[in-house]
Amino acid sequence: MLVLQDIHVYYGAIHALKGISLEVNEGEIVTLIGSNGAGKSTSLKTISGLLRPKEGSITFNGADLTRVQPQEIVSQGISQVPEGRHVFTNMSVLENLELGAYLRKDKAEIKKDIEKVYTLFPRLQERKGQLSGTLSGGEQQMLAMGRALMSRPKLLLLDEPSMGLAPILVKQIFSIIKEINKTGTTVLLVEQNAHMALSIAERAYVLETGKIVLSGNAVELAKSEAVRNAYLGG
Ligand code: ATP
Repeated sequence: MLVLQDIHVYYGAIHALKGISLEVNEGEIVTLIGSNGAGKSTSLKTISGLLRPKEGSITFNGADLTRVQPQEIVSQGISQVPEGRHVFTNMSVLENLELGAYLRKDKAEIKKDIEKVYTLFPRLQERKGQLSGTLSGGEQQMLAMGRALMSRPKLLLLDEPSMGLAPILVKQIFSIIKEINKTGTTVLLVEQNAHMALSIAERAYVLETGKIVLSGNAVELAKSEAVRNAYLGG
């Protein structure tokens, strides 16, 4: 479904991604793990068109995305939940969800999808009129995910959904990610919480200073000594 081949990304003189190649197949949950500054967010931003690779190619269902505008990438079926959520704080929960559908014209279907988001996240329904800036961190994460789903993505990119959340909420968010995947959305998940990420993913890639150093089946990687020592606390 998604194929990155030898992607190089720079921030000025900083060579942030040094030849990343990875694949996400339809129906999978794939995770990209790695420590601070490894290039995880940079990888997601490059896929969603917010950053341009200097070299390499990105294809999605066979179509070249490498020079496509972010808005067009959303229309093709890729939606990103950014790190730090970035909900529109002065707008209500419902208005945020409606904005997630801004490229769509099918009003009746949009309404149905809002109901689907409420089924997935009952808390959002309870708080649909509330200003998003006053939601808790966990609720904002739910809203950011719900908003991304409103574009009906085939591939959902999640950037550190566990960030800053209490363990019980992290568990809840991860079980919802699994549910979203079961209903047919492919997921590429970036996480510093390797333990949780490997527990729900089928496959994983380990990123270190802009390079993929390990990849494979998530269960096997979680057992490997290198991953245990570096990312799972031994
Ligand atoms: P974190 O988990 O801390 O968000 P990450 O793995 O997502 O880390 P990136 O944010 O992708 O890492 O950063 C990769 C590298 O690129 C880091 O060395 C970072 O300092 C650098 N970098 C990121 N954004 C910029 C920027 N706007 N300008 C310059 N350098 C940047």
